[in-house]
Amino acid sequence: MIKKWEQLIVESYSRDNILHLTSICTQKCVFCSHRFNPPEIEVFSPGHLPLPFIKEMMDFLDPGRTVRTGESVSRVIEGEPFCHPDFFEIIELFRSCYPDTPLEIVTGGDRLDEDKIKRLAELKPLSLKFSLNLVDPILRGRFLSAKKEKIEPVLNSLQIEGIPYSVTAVAIPHLTGWEALDKTINLASRYGPEDITVYRPAFSGKAPGNLIPAPAQDEELEKHLEALSAQIKTPLLLEPARLYDFIPRVVGVREQSPAGKAGLQTGDVIVSVDGVKPWSRVEAHLALNKAGGKRLLIQRAGKEKELFLQNGSNSCSGAIFYRDIDFRIIEEIKETGAREKVGVVTSYGAFPLLQGGLSGSEIELFPVANRGFGGNLNSAGLLGVRDILQQAGKAFVEKELEKIILPGVMFDRRGRDLWGLNITELEERVGIPCLEFSG
Ligand code: SF4
Repeated sequence: MIKKWEQLIVESYSRDNILHLTSICTQKCVFCSHRFNPPEIEVFSPGHLPLPFIKEMMDFLDPGRTVRTGESVSRVIEGEPFCHPDFFEIIELFRSCYPDTPLEIVTGGDRLDEDKIKRLAELKPLSLKFSLNLVDPILRGRFLSAKKEKIEPVLNSLQIEGIPYSVTAVAIPHLTGWEALDKTINLASRYGPEDITVYRPAFSGKAPGNLIPAPAQDEELEKHLEALSAQIKTPLLLEPARLYDFIPRVVGVREQSPAGKAGLQTGDVIVSVDGVKPWSRVEAHLALNKAGGKRLLIQRAGKEKELFLQNGSNSCSGAIFYRDIDFRIIEEIKETGAREKVGVVTSYGAFPLLQGGLSGSEIELFPVANRGFGGNLNSAGLLGVRDILQQAGKAFVEKELEKIILPGVMFDRRGRDLWGLNITELEERVGIPCLEFSG
């Protein structure tokens, strides 16, 4: 009989285009989410997948889309791809099967060296998402259990070999001091990454208290990165972004990209693209990414300005926006709300945006906290049926709702949350039909 984790891996390959290799990681980052999951959450750690199994799974990948490895989208823990003893054999096989399919490798970088980067360069088209986190060798050892070696040669090799890469770092200034974060961002930006994303640190209630930052650090982090962003050329992002409106403001521009060449700058607001006003950041992003030339009307420092952006055929303008909500999803929710008495469940993170998007309608929003995980987590993907029942179940019934709309991201393909509870269980408990939205 097919094991549960095998089933999940088949789904990862076939639906999400994930080339899953291993659940083993040699690092032990203090913020690694795998360390502090509530015990009731069912996760799988099958170790290194055998080469024959991976070969078989490769047939399920879609060569028309980017394939990613090292990123988890299911309850199977995703480890460090370079830990797999057959890593290069697998990637070479992938390349021989799919010569033109872009591959994105998510890595902590601890296993990378100049020789491996040279070998990777022969397997293009590929890019790296480098979870760098810290550059100071002592701090890398202390907080990531990574090798206490300098990381510059690795960054330098990536630049020399022309492998496109982006950098990510979890901000833990409450543990390392602010200088460590500054040093990481400044040093990384010298070696040509496409962008740098800093993540707000998020811990479940199972994490020791000293790991969870004081709430005031959040605001300080925003101000700190804003100041740092003005000093470097690399686009610097903070995720999850706290968004309160749908204004399509550019958060970063890749220097050699079509948007960079067109003269677009960080902070510009897209007023229109070929005369059409984008309703949200998602719309502006999609409009700018369309192949071909387009006339942009932008607003910069209170004045309007026209730019011409010429995109190549690969449909990537190089202008970066935070992700808000697709207008079509808001329209769909509003249409449902016009026919029935609807309630929408949201995380506290997405609440202000949805509130803005649904203003003027009768639809009621129900923000729900991640109590199942606890800590300072604030994500729709980590909500559970139990969270919703405890915090909003009674109100659904009292308000005589006819339909409840839930974030689809909290359920797997079979409609189960991370605790294994089904969406139908929620429907039965409150006696109201539920439906998922994918925003
Ligand atoms: S590199 Fe990623 S998977 Fe490995 S310990 Fe760190 S956070 Fe966890």
